This record gives sequence, C-alpha cells and structure tokens, in this order.
Amino acid sequence: MLLLHPPTAKPGEPPAALAHLAAALRGSNHRCRVCDMNLEGMLHVLGSAPPATDTWSRRAGRDLAANIAALQGPELYRIPARYQRAVRDCNRVLEAAGRTHGLLLSFANYQDETLSPTVSDDLITAAHRFRQNIFYPYFSRRLTQLLEDETPTLIGLSLQYLGQALTTFAIIGFLRAQAPTIPIVLGGGLVTTWLRNPSWRNPFTGLVDHLVAGPGEGPLLALLGPPQPCRLEIPDYTGLGDLPYFAPGFILPYAASSGCYWRKCSFCPETSEANPYLPLTPPTVMDQLDSLVTAWRPRLLHFLDNAVNPAVMRALTDRPPGIPWYGFARLDDRLTDREYCRQLRQAGCVMLKLGIESGSQQVLDGMNKGIDIKKVATALEALAAAGIATYVYLLFGTPGESMDEARETLAFVADHHRLITFLNLAIFNLPVGSREAAGLEITTRHQGDLTLYHDFRHPRGWGRREIRRFLDREFKNRPAIRTVLQRDPPFFTSNHAPFFAGPAGRPGI
Ligand code: SF4
Repeated sequence: MLLLHPPTAKPGEPPAALAHLAAALRGSNHRCRVCDMNLEGMLHVLGSAPPATDTWSRRAGRDLAANIAALQGPELYRIPARYQRAVRDCNRVLEAAGRTHGLLLSFANYQDETLSPTVSDDLITAAHRFRQNIFYPYFSRRLTQLLEDETPTLIGLSLQYLGQALTTFAIIGFLRAQAPTIPIVLGGGLVTTWLRNPSWRNPFTGLVDHLVAGPGEGPLLALLGPPQPCRLEIPDYTGLGDLPYFAPGFILPYAASSGCYWRKCSFCPETSEANPYLPLTPPTVMDQLDSLVTAWRPRLLHFLDNAVNPAVMRALTDRPPGIPWYGFARLDDRLTDREYCRQLRQAGCVMLKLGIESGSQQVLDGMNKGIDIKKVATALEALAAAGIATYVYLLFGTPGESMDEARETLAFVADHHRLITFLNLAIFNLPVGSREAAGLEITTRHQGDLTLYHDFRHPRGWGRREIRRFLDREFKNRPAIRTVLQRDPPFFTSNHAPFFAGPAGRPGI
C-alpha cells in the first residue's frame, strides 16, 4: 500500500497519521510505503521559484539555500530575530512561486483565486486539471516513480486540512489518469468532518473509491485482506523520521488519545461531531514513548491530543520521557498547584497550549468551557513560576460575547501579559451542524456544499467586521499585548514556539 500526505500543511514535523497507519499495516504484514509529499513538494517549489523582481525577494532568493539549511539546524533558533527573518524570507519565495499559479501560497496556507476547497465541484475541477497544479511537476515525477517501485494495490491519501484539499484532488486526478485500476482511499480529519455532516452526499464517486471517517487503521486493513483484529502498534516513523523537516531536530508527534475527554465546549467540532474519546492507558503511553524515544532520539515531543489527559500528565511526572515535550492541556485545578507545575517542568514540559478563549466568566460559562477565570490567573502564575511557557488561545465573537466581554478579555490579558508567552487570536466560526446553529439566525449559507461554517447574525449586536476592528485597533494595539504577539514564530506558530519557550520568548530548549 502507498500512503500519501499531500501539500499544503506546515512542514515542521512528520505527519503522525501516516506513522499510525503504517504501523497498523506493517504490524499485520502488509507492505506499506509512506511519502510526505507536503515536505517534498514544498522543497521542490522553493527550489524552482521564479526570478525575483524586488530587493527583498532578490535577497530571499539569494539566501534561500542557506536559510533552509539554517532552519533545519539548531543554531538559528538561538537568535529569534534572525530566525524570524529566515522564515519570512523562505516564505517570500514560496509566495512568489504561488503568485505565478494564482495562489496565495505560504508555509501555512494554500488559497486558490478561482477554486474553493469547500466546493466539491471545484475539487473535482482540480482533479481534472491536475496539470495546472503548482505541485504537478513534483508529484507527477514522484508518483510515477513510486508506482513503478511499489506496484501498490491500494493508495491512501491523508487529508487533514483545508489547505491540502485542492492539491489532494489534483493528485487523485493524476492517479486516476496514470493508474486507473488502483483503488483510492481518502481519509483524515477534514474527510471525517465532511462525513459527519448530516447532509453529506458523496460527490466524489468515480474519483475516490473509499472515504473513511475517523481512525483509518481498521478500514484499511479490511480493504487489504480478510477481517482481522486491529492490533495496538507503536507509530512507525520509518520513511519519515529522517526527512529534512523545517525544525532544529526531529520533532516526534504523538497522540495518547483521539477525541476529547471533556467534549462539552459548545463551539467545538469534537462536541458537534460527537467524536468518541479513545485514550491509551498511561502505562501503554509510557511504554510507547520509551520505544519511540530510544529509536528516534527526538529533540522534542509534541503531544497531539486535544487535551493531554491528567492521568498521562501524572505518568509523565512519575516516568519522565527524557526529552522536552509540549501539548494542549485543559486548565483544571491541578495546574494551579505550584508543586505540580514544578514536577511537570522537571518531567520535561516546556510549554502548555491552553484554550482559555475568554477573560469573561459569563462567556466561559455560556460556552460550557468548564474553567474558572480566577483559577486561570493562578495557573498562569504557577506555570510561569515553574518555567513552563504558555501558548494561550483566545476566541472572539462567540454568541455570548459582546464588545464589553471582549474588553474584559483585553483587560485580563493586559493584566497577565508577563505570564503569557504566546497568544493566538481567533474569530468564532459557527460550525455547520452544531447545536448552537439552531438558536441563531443564519445570514449566509455558503455556496460550498462542503462548507464547515455558517455566517450568523450575532445576537449581541456585533459582527466579524466590528470584531476585526476591535482586535486591530484596541487589542493588538496595547503595547504589552503587541510584545507578546510579536514573539509568535511566523507561519510555524505553536509548532516552533517551544524553541523560544524561555523567559519572554528567548530560546527555550
Ligand atoms: S476542551 Fe478543547 S477539544 Fe475538548 S471540547 Fe473543549 S475546545 Fe473541544
């Protein structure tokens, strides 16, 4: 079997989904070849970008090879200003290449001027016009070689993000033309969201043979042979772990669970899609981590869980993995305990990502977030005292929030800016199929049949334009907050933030 991770996603670490699938297939004695087409495709586009036309672009083009090499080694990450310049320069080259194809292309984005990833007709058009895709020179050559070398009986594509969708379908179009008899399976986070939408009707008949929602291990094994139990396997990074990612060493992505153990926040797809919570036991997690760390000697461990389970956190403090780690955590009482935070730091925790969302208790209660804003302040103090950096996520424009509550959030962040290392600001999108949609006036039903969100009339009298204006003119304009925002690693954001997780964004690991 051939498993592909198509462009475009951040190329900082290997795609965990492929490592999990490969482990399950190889563990059942199936041949499996993985290919990170995202990383390879981006390196190809960077290496064949058009000549520069302005001074900045000329510098970016001239320094490209040196900047890529520096981003793949440790030294550059010791000097944040030089790091930021190198990332922006490399991205400048990507952007210029994208413009020649009518794209907004970056390390974190792929936006086509004419085709939308939320319209199935556009995805089908992308498949038919695969030769026009910016990655075509790369993927046509690479896939031809892989088909020759591997003669796969099944090809799987992992579609996690919107930015991958159009190129995923271009690759499918190419495969249909080149190898029409090999069945194609499409799975991943984005496909799961499509399939869990109650109004889903499959528009991809004839292009895609099998669409899979949720974990793909069982369905792939069923397609490859007689039914057999799907054994628990350690993610297998063979074919991925030694690739030249944009990182100062191998970042090991690892999921100790899928779904979310809280699953109550009203705006969250985990709640609206009712995804089951499937955790590994803490001893299994620790055994798997021991094996992975011994095999790969990673520089950093990235927990992919929606929220790392407190039982796993406790296991990590009892049996530290021996390398720095970070991930999302729910802000519960434990994190207000300084001794507990100190133990986490000693166990290698360098950064926690925290979905605080709002500084208003009323808004937090309205979204069923289950956190107490006073305890958030105490937890931020405890984490800072322990030397654990925080990547704080805020969400503006939820149905229960007006400008007054947004200003409470501003005041909270301004008061605690010294305790917050990084900030992510997002504007609320109303997920299609969420319970909240029923009680709100939907203003625009987007044309895209695969759209993930609705526009709605905000019950508290403001809308996206006013929220943006508030963020730009008030929130981001506060000098203390601006300092925190400027620390955020461009494009790679939280994926590279642990390398700047020292005090005030200085080098951390
Ligand atoms: S804790 Fe996070 S993942 Fe879980 S329901 Fe809330 S927002 Fe979603």
